[in-house]
Amino acid sequence: MKTALICGAGGFIGSHLVKRLKREGFWVRGVDLKRPEFAESEADDFIIGDLREQSLCRSVVDRTFDEVYQLAADMGGAGYIFTGENDADIMHNSATINLNIADICHKRNIKRLFYSSSACMYPQYNQLDPDNPNCSEDSAYPAAPDSEYGWEKLFSERLFLAYNRNHAMQNRVARFHNIFGPEGTWEGGKEKAPAAICRKIAEVNSGDTIEIWGDGTQTRSFLYIEECLEGTTRLLRSGFEGPVNIGSDEMVSINQLVDLVADIAGKTIVKNHIEGPQGVRGRNSDNRLIKEKLGWRPTAPLRTGLEKTYAWIEQQVQARR
Ligand code: NAD
Repeated sequence: MKTALICGAGGFIGSHLVKRLKREGFWVRGVDLKRPEFAESEADDFIIGDLREQSLCRSVVDRTFDEVYQLAADMGGAGYIFTGENDADIMHNSATINLNIADICHKRNIKRLFYSSSACMYPQYNQLDPDNPNCSEDSAYPAAPDSEYGWEKLFSERLFLAYNRNHAMQNRVARFHNIFGPEGTWEGGKEKAPAAICRKIAEVNSGDTIEIWGDGTQTRSFLYIEECLEGTTRLLRSGFEGPVNIGSDEMVSINQLVDLVADIAGKTIVKNHIEGPQGVRGRNSDNRLIKEKLGWRPTAPLRTGLEKTYAWIEQQVQARR
């Protein structure tokens, strides 16, 4: 039986990855500070622990695994990353986890692990025009991410690729672009735009007003969780080390995203644009490299994933009432 280790298995992407690898027949060990919030983990072995501690890392990585996924990070939505209040924690916590995992995997003779970087590492100066953002993989330098979260991702990308060069590892690095889906954080400040908008619309009646951060013309693309996992497992099992974007190239403005969710909900919604953290003006995944290297790229329409996500968030909102 093949074995997998998922660091961050209590998080959004990690908990979905556990389910996927179980469907594929793996024996799975998950590790996280916490269990998944919305459903029991399907992991065969779930270790609660802090990956900033080397001793914990040594006991978790106590053997070789066929596949290792390093998804654990101190992260959140714009309300957590872009306020500046959490910068030291974000950098210290995530970098410590990555330093520990890279080194222990090398020492245990694990040759290959997957690392999730983020589109937040792309330079801000290429993302000022909402209609023409440039996020091709080779546009990363000169580096100028707009957040410390992005700087830490850039550092850790380089860390895992340095282990490839100096320690004959074959680590794989992906840059995720806004992943969304059911069983993700949907309230409390760490939720991302799709979840926040689904929640706001689920909470109001048709004809009501919801608040939108910024003028709503900032653009993004959003990738549904199943396609993220397809790209993730394909990259780990491929001959290409990356870094490569795993994202959707169906770019929408936040206003269009609101209209799409309102249409799915069957509600008329009035938008009240307010001050709020927004991040860069425009961002879209450039999928030329992934298509070239893996012969695959995400293609599912945004609407399909949003329908599933809205249905799940509406259920959560109803259950809370
Ligand atoms: P998440 O916050 O749901 O999951 C991360 C998990 O890491 C959490 O469960 C958290 O408890 C765990 N963790 C944090 N510190 C830890 C520690 N010290 N020890 C053990 N566990 C710890 O986030 P996610 O959306 O599932 O993201 C997974 C990865 O993908 C992260 O590295 C993130 O930066 C990256 N990423 C995600 C997105 C996205 O849109 N979701 C976009 C770009 C990159």
